[in-house]
Order: sequence, then structure tokens, then C-alpha cells
Amino acid sequence: MADSKGSTVAAFFDLDRTLIDVNSGTLYARYEYENGRIGAGQLLISLAYMGLYYLSLVDVEAAYAKALAHYRGETSDSLHERTRVWFDRDVAHRLQPGAKAALEEHRLLGHRIVLLTSSSQYMAQTVSSAWGLDGWIANRFPTDEQGRLLGSIESPFCYGPGKVTRAESWAVERNVDLDASFFYTDSLSDLPMLLRVGNPRVVKPDPRLRREARRRGWPVLDWGQAVAVAR
Ligand SMILES: [Mg+2]
Repeated sequence: MADSKGSTVAAFFDLDRTLIDVNSGTLYARYEYENGRIGAGQLLISLAYMGLYYLSLVDVEAAYAKALAHYRGETSDSLHERTRVWFDRDVAHRLQPGAKAALEEHRLLGHRIVLLTSSSQYMAQTVSSAWGLDGWIANRFPTDEQGRLLGSIESPFCYGPGKVTRAESWAVERNVDLDASFFYTDSLSDLPMLLRVGNPRVVKPDPRLRREARRRGWPVLDWGQAVAVAR
């Protein structure tokens, strides 16, 4: 296996509906509801937000901030632990077969494998250690000295154009060349990052992204089957 530590090429992967076949936010909201940590009203609101595919960046960030405010005062450690328990129960078995194949291909090529997601740092850390990824870029939540969440989100929000800003800083620090790198995603909201990397890959896209991909000649993958990675 090639050593990915010194590689100048990264393969970035979105999480929801890309590495896994569902939106993990929906599963997490249900888990929190089952354990009495959110009420039925909040569950419905979360589910409604997650179901609204065509929200603008501003709406998504506002919805995210609203959900996060609910966790103000909770410790980072307890959220991390809860995420691990929930991941093992509800998410670990949802890695798509084609995603697994793509991870293996990039690993053999010696690329750095990086999760690039709008989900939380707790989810990103859990996914990365479970599936042996080389790094993660996700939303982080500032805490006080006791490790309690302040209820805010670190800027820039890791979504849409924010994913590009975050990936660029990550890449500069590690001498990674985004023009030679890959990004896999299902969502039109990720168009800025798809345009930023040299090797965009679209996975079971929403209809608007499918049209964009067709127009630009980008590979469209269906991860129900094995995947070939361009070399
Ligand atoms: Mg997605």
C-alpha cells in the first residue's frame, strides 16, 4: 500500500448520500427523539429541514445554528461519545459498496483520503477513525474552558462555498494540490468544490446536479456498482 502521508493528491468525500446512502442528520434527529433529548416538534422541524433539498446557503446555516443552540452547555465529550454510540448502531453499516471500492482505490494510489462534510466534528472524527480515513474537514463548535458548547459554529460554515475555503486552507497546510485532487458528492450545494478540484465525481446526483454534470462532462457514478477511478 502506498504511503498517503506525503501525497500531493487528496480524494475528498462528502458524507451524506455519498459515502453513506442516507442523510445522517435525519437519523441523528430520530435517535435524539427516541432518547428523549428533543421533542416531537423539534424532530419534525429537523426532518422537514433535512428533506428540503433546495434551501439556500443562508437557510441551511440558519437551520443548523438553530439546531445547535439546543446543545448549548453540553460538553464536547458527551456529544462525541453519544455520536460514537449512535454511529455504531445506525450508520456504520451504511457505507455504500461503491464508496468502499473508491476508498480502496484511492488508498492503493497513495492519495490522502479526506472526509469533507457539513456534519459535526464529532461525526467526522467518528467516521474517520471507523473507516481509516487520513483526515476530516467538518463543522466545529467552539466551547468554553470546561469544554461546554457555546452554541455557535466556527466560521466559515462548512457547506457550499465554505467547503472550498476550508479545503483550501487544509490543502495549503499539507502541500496538497487541489487541481490534481478528487471530490465525490451527490449534491448541487457542493458545486463550488466540484469546480475547485481537477477531478470532480458526481454520485447518484440530485436532478439539478445531474444536469450540471452532463453539461460539463463530469463522470456520474452510481455506487450500487463497483467504481473505476481515473488515474
Ligand atoms: Mg451529500
